Amino acid sequence: MKVVIDAGHGGSDPGAVYNGRKEAEDNLNLALELGEILRDAGIQVVYTRTGDETQTPFEKASIGNQSGADLFVSLHRNSSPIPNQYSGVETLVYDDNGKKAELARRINENLTTVGYQNLGVKERPGLVVLRRTNMPAVLVESGFINTDTDNAIYDTQFRQIAEQIADAIISMQQDFERKGNYRVQIGLYRMFSNAQYALMQAISKGFNGEIVSQGEYYAVLVGNTDSYAKAQELERQLQQAGFDTLIITSR
Ligand SMILES: [Zn+2]
Repeated sequence: MKVVIDAGHGGSDPGAVYNGRKEAEDNLNLALELGEILRDAGIQVVYTRTGDETQTPFEKASIGNQSGADLFVSLHRNSSPIPNQYSGVETLVYDDNGKKAELARRINENLTTVGYQNLGVKERPGLVVLRRTNMPAVLVESGFINTDTDNAIYDTQFRQIAEQIADAIISMQQDFERKGNYRVQIGLYRMFSNAQYALMQAISKGFNGEIVSQGEYYAVLVGNTDSYAKAQELERQLQQAGFDTLIITSR
């Protein structure tokens, strides 16, 4: 499984600010902590940023899409018009349906164990990182940055917050992995001899493959895996070896 962790805001956009405290910094710290926990659990992690970089939400979504990840998790802190007005965690989704909504609910519930109130799952179809990402996406508002009690929770239970978000993701790992039968096609030929030649080329470069007849054509297929991430890795290797590639699936 591969997860994109997005530390919200950054660089010239500090996000919400309260008494010198910047949301972008809180988000980055939590993103790095969460990423370590997920990596220790064997999950691949892609960060949108690991430093104080300026990024538009479009760039964040684009990094996610290019990574081919199974899930996009954006980390933020909330802010209210008046300090100390509200308190708690809420998680935003494009719409309150499917696995992303279930994950959002689990994150909120898990975070009540650190002392946050559960403010629920909210639909925010207008948010770019939820709308423009092509995988399930959630945006966690981990307490209000202008509420002192929430900041106390954030600072004293920082590790537990990261662990609870990680636990929610891990609990849904099976649901988010794209399962199927993936193979990488390196050629489609009318003539069997041409397919044979392509297969020999692949074998000479260390790949395993076979020729499969498809109507009047012969497809040369390499690999066979139930993991989309592994198929992507194989595709990269084939491209580096000079092949034109296409991931095909039979679900
Ligand atoms: Zn934010």
